[in-house]
Amino acid sequence: MLTIADQKTRLGEAARSFLASSRKMLIDGQWVAAQSGRTIDVVDPATGLVLVDVPGGGAADVDRAVAAARRAFEGAWSGFRPVQRERLLLKLADLLEANADELAELETIDNGKLLMMSRHADLTLAIDSLRYMAGWATKIEGTTITPSFSYVPPGMEFTSQTLREPVGVVGQIIPWNFPLVMAIWKIAPALAAGCTVILKPAEDTPLTALRLGELVCEAGFPDGVVNIVTGDAEPGVALVDHPGVDKIAFTGSTEVGQIIQRRAADSMKRLSLELGGKSPVVILKDADVGMAVQGAAQAVFFNHGQVCTAGSRLFVERPIYDAVMEGLAEVANSFALGSGFDSETQMGPLISAKQRDRVQGFLETGRKEGGRLLAGGSPVEGGGFFFRPAVFADTRPDMTIYREEIFGPVLSATPFDDVDTAVRLANDSIYGLGASVWTNNLSLANRVVRKLKAGNVWVNCHNLLDPAVPFGGYRMSGYGSELGHAARDLYTESKSVTTLLS
Ligand code: NAP
Ligand code: MG
Repeated sequence: MLTIADQKTRLGEAARSFLASSRKMLIDGQWVAAQSGRTIDVVDPATGLVLVDVPGGGAADVDRAVAAARRAFEGAWSGFRPVQRERLLLKLADLLEANADELAELETIDNGKLLMMSRHADLTLAIDSLRYMAGWATKIEGTTITPSFSYVPPGMEFTSQTLREPVGVVGQIIPWNFPLVMAIWKIAPALAAGCTVILKPAEDTPLTALRLGELVCEAGFPDGVVNIVTGDAEPGVALVDHPGVDKIAFTGSTEVGQIIQRRAADSMKRLSLELGGKSPVVILKDADVGMAVQGAAQAVFFNHGQVCTAGSRLFVERPIYDAVMEGLAEVANSFALGSGFDSETQMGPLISAKQRDRVQGFLETGRKEGGRLLAGGSPVEGGGFFFRPAVFADTRPDMTIYREEIFGPVLSATPFDDVDTAVRLANDSIYGLGASVWTNNLSLANRVVRKLKAGNVWVNCHNLLDPAVPFGGYRMSGYGSELGHAARDLYTESKSVTTLLS
């Protein structure tokens, strides 16, 4: 059976020495333990064994971090010119690039994802995103308006303008599926806008956030601009409740997003919420079957299905339904499961025992409710949190696996007979995050695209994200688009100023 020692032999010197160091959290430029003395275990999902521990931060730590972020926001950081903020972010990107192998290894041992994906997908996207966001620091602009004020006496002249100002101290709470990318998507636009931040990584994956904290210090950001408080939900709750926090930026489940929205109601903290999904993949009958099978498999199985835009509901037009389902069952059965460090591995473990049991529970419910299981379902021996990718055919909208976000490699598929029905089925969800359409008929694709209720729609591809393209949800998938031009507005407030000229 795979052991932690086996896993560690796959790490380079830098990652090994990071794990051997005492991992504290970053508050006000200092590396500190939790004031309570508490720690939380960091588990390697490929073995199910404890790798190291990190501080288990709580409300007292958040309090210190918020005070530090406030001092920095009103002090040193406010004196930084936009171009200085840009340069620091670019320097941080260079440091990420210089340490990319180490960061990728830490991501793989902490999260379980394939090393090849950590290195070539996560790290590349994190670095590109930092560089893209760095550019916004010098491009935050307002507008100039000539107001009419037709009710004031003639002869008086005014000019109005809008200023975009940083929102202030931001609490940022992130999930475990793309730990470093999520951290960068949160801190980079906030820092570009001139905010200061307290980042709370997921309990299951704190390692790359802490290594990122070291690189933030090395880049030369002033103390208190970036604070990183590790722990379970407690520091997250403390951030949401803290009167000194101006905004919460959250990525995670819809359930926790709703809790945050309720708790922030009294203070009217600014919120941006990137939440769950149950994204439809719609394959029309003229699509190339081979391409559609590969596309639909990638849409749902990428990152072991632990993707908020996972294409977990598949709709296939009847004439090609059987061929597509057969192809998908074959792909699902062919996945080699194993350690993310192994070059033969095609799918790593799920994040935790809790997550694996949850996904297993959905599988059993799917069977009971009458789904036809074409692949997956058998248990995997060994200590890690492995789960065989599963494909259900003939699922119906009243089934739990059709409606609820599973966040694991489980596909539910449904045939359809006409495009209007496909659109109706695709939109029959509380969520609206991702969707894709597969067809060679681009005019039809564009008609479908316009009818889909989702914030991110792909045509003949799925799950492709880029820092220049806004990303956000419709409906219960949240609000407050990240990335692209939208990022500029996410961490600024608009102030209108009117001046009497004469
Ligand atoms: P989660 O349970 O909602 O947790 C997300 C983060 O919130 C974690 O850091 C968590 O801490 C913290 N948290 C938990 N309870 C909290 C509370 N009451 N107040 C404040 N913070 C709290 O989600 P997850 O299981 O980590 O991630 C999976 C979910 O994230 C899925 O639903 C997925 O769709 C969604 N997701 C969405 C996007 C997107 O962009 N839309 C991207 C990725 C993931 P702990 O880790 O200690 O629990
Ligand atoms: Mg872990």
